[in-house]
Amino acid sequence: MLKQYFIEIKGVVQGVGFRPFIYRMATEMGINGIVYNDNSGVTISVQTTKEKCESFIEKIKVHAPAASDIVSFTVHEEPVTDVFEGFHIDNSRESGTGVTAISPDIAVCDDCMGEIANSKDKRFRYPFINCTSCGPRFSIIKMLPYDRNATTMSDFGMCKDCSSEFTDISSRRFHAQPVCCDDCGPHYTMCRGTDRENDYGKILQKICDTLTKGDIVAIKGIGGYNLLCRSDSYKSVMKIRSIKGRKSKPFAVMFKNTDSVRRYAVLGKEEEIALTSPRRPIVLLQQTRMTGIGVNDGYKTIGAILPYMPVHYHIFENTGAESLIFTSANKEGSPIIKDDAEALAFFAGEDIPVVIHDRAIYNRVDDSVITFIGGKERIIRRSRGYAPEEIDTGRNCEGILAMGGEMNSAFAIGKGTKAIPSQYIGDINNRNTIDFYKEMIKHYYMLYRFIPEKIICDYHPGYFTTRLAEAISTKRKIRLQKVQHHHAHTAAVMAEYGLDKEVLSLAFDGLGLGNDGSMWGGELLACTPESYRRIMHLPAVAIPGGNIASRMPWRMAISYIDSICGHGVYPKGFVERVGEYNVAGVEHMIHAKINTPYGSGAGRLFDAVSSLLGICDENEYQGEAAIKLEHIADMCETHRYPIDKHAPMTLHLLFDAILYDMRRGVEVCEIAAKFHNTLAYMMKSAAVIAAKKNKISDIVLCGGVFQNKILSDLLIKSLQECGLKVYYPSRLPCNDSSLAVGQMFIASKKI
Ligand code: ZN
Ligand code: FE
Repeated sequence: MLKQYFIEIKGVVQGVGFRPFIYRMATEMGINGIVYNDNSGVTISVQTTKEKCESFIEKIKVHAPAASDIVSFTVHEEPVTDVFEGFHIDNSRESGTGVTAISPDIAVCDDCMGEIANSKDKRFRYPFINCTSCGPRFSIIKMLPYDRNATTMSDFGMCKDCSSEFTDISSRRFHAQPVCCDDCGPHYTMCRGTDRENDYGKILQKICDTLTKGDIVAIKGIGGYNLLCRSDSYKSVMKIRSIKGRKSKPFAVMFKNTDSVRRYAVLGKEEEIALTSPRRPIVLLQQTRMTGIGVNDGYKTIGAILPYMPVHYHIFENTGAESLIFTSANKEGSPIIKDDAEALAFFAGEDIPVVIHDRAIYNRVDDSVITFIGGKERIIRRSRGYAPEEIDTGRNCEGILAMGGEMNSAFAIGKGTKAIPSQYIGDINNRNTIDFYKEMIKHYYMLYRFIPEKIICDYHPGYFTTRLAEAISTKRKIRLQKVQHHHAHTAAVMAEYGLDKEVLSLAFDGLGLGNDGSMWGGELLACTPESYRRIMHLPAVAIPGGNIASRMPWRMAISYIDSICGHGVYPKGFVERVGEYNVAGVEHMIHAKINTPYGSGAGRLFDAVSSLLGICDENEYQGEAAIKLEHIADMCETHRYPIDKHAPMTLHLLFDAILYDMRRGVEVCEIAAKFHNTLAYMMKSAAVIAAKKNKISDIVLCGGVFQNKILSDLLIKSLQECGLKVYYPSRLPCNDSSLAVGQMFIASKKI
């Protein structure tokens, strides 16, 4: 019997070729009905039999367009309305208060790469080719609903051919808003001094000549400008370091293809899927061979990325290179440059070719970074290909503006039950990043027609985001709520996994302000969305100089020795390295309590151990000493140091043992391994005690320290072996980028 079914699909289903896909599927199967976009996604009504409807749904789930992301799927039978004739795409409808997810930017697809290589195709060698399955999205969208006029492609009128593809349901470009061709779309221009070159073929040739000579090129991408050079050219690697003011932080490397990746790194199946996905992030892989000197010295991993724009493929085709340094164009710490004038001014003194194009970037997005921890994909920097995907919290978030923190900053806005986190904005310690932060808040207001009704920020009075929250609250006369840093870290994970109950949380990070005026960051908490209890924590030690200590691990080494082991028991070589004068100065600061707050931040503990072992005394970038400590650890070593079973988070046994090992000449890589083992064991022991006592078996891991793969892998495994259910963030970073979503979850209301 003919029945009518109403199918609602939510998620990233607009601007990714979903309706034409449904149309083709239904027509092939001989199903009658309609499909249309509405505020909250794609809706389908079909008249068919129950069996056919089921197989239709199955096919949708299996064959959905690569760039789509179905979050929810609801089907119910409805009364038969008028009899449908054939299958049609209906006009978009306004319904309810939901908002459609804006698609993130999508890497160029195989079909488009096929056309661009075909000399008979009208888009042969046209580098701005795109279709409903690929191309820029978020980076060019100014407002909703998503159509061409609402994007930076509004500057380009479609030619006759393009507009007939745009309106042809059987075309891959049906309703592909950025559709264009060589006749009507954007073009590259290469600028060097006063020279201008507009011919794409010649531009490519010049790019390749430049790279082959061992020089660097700046080129405008999807979400900003990138710098490229051969990774085996030490001279150009160093030139990029000098332009960016980046001394030793590793660079990401773009490889020609997966075969090239395999020659330099271990590429597992899951990693390959992530690397080749339409999101096309930088994936951290185990390195087997160096791509060049100065690229990622001292690291066991390499950040690998594959081409995601036609021009990237063409550059590899035309040079013999297998790998290129691929990094954002900016001063270290500033946001990626997105405007042509700014790029030309930035590179004015450098005598390097700058390749611009005339499709404006509206929302800047840097390359995203992911890694694999506990066998699953985890995000470290959430930007191109991921933003602005939303997190459905299951609670009422409407009208909430959450400001996030200070490092790795990102804010979030609340729409219905959804938290929409901004892309990665950066460390708020310079004017450019502040401007970017403010600019994106304005963009999100407009994109989502958002008016804040309530504003949430961190406790810390010194954060720029706190002061801005206070200013917005005063100006708009809206309520301001301040939340504790590690409660917010925990709540972000609760939001991601829909944990609306009491959970345990290991919140380990650098430092966040606690409710007792000291800095926290090695915490075992029990949290609900509304409240938190501090159950156990690492010992609080002096932080000589406050914030500045996070750049100087040697100061933390002195502080831990002083408060835990006793005065002056430094390992051999430490005082000589750091300087007697500095050691005495910091000891004096600690004892006289001069500019010395107290803190239990685990990040500072890693710093101290890294410095004591002689691995890193000064952090050039955030977390350097901790990262180097992880990378030097030889995990074949399975031993650990003893801990105090009754007070697992105390550190005296650990430090005594480290100093003892150093005295008897144990190798640094072995001590580093034992340190990781001990810390994981310590955290597990604390969690198990708390779980029993509080009768809670759900445990959240959060905070930047969990970017440490060795520690996280060990801990996840051992907690699971103890029967605890472990929640480690996947869709949000574990670092401070997730704070905004956590703040929002705390401020949201149960439905
Ligand atoms: Zn395409
Ligand atoms: Fe934090």
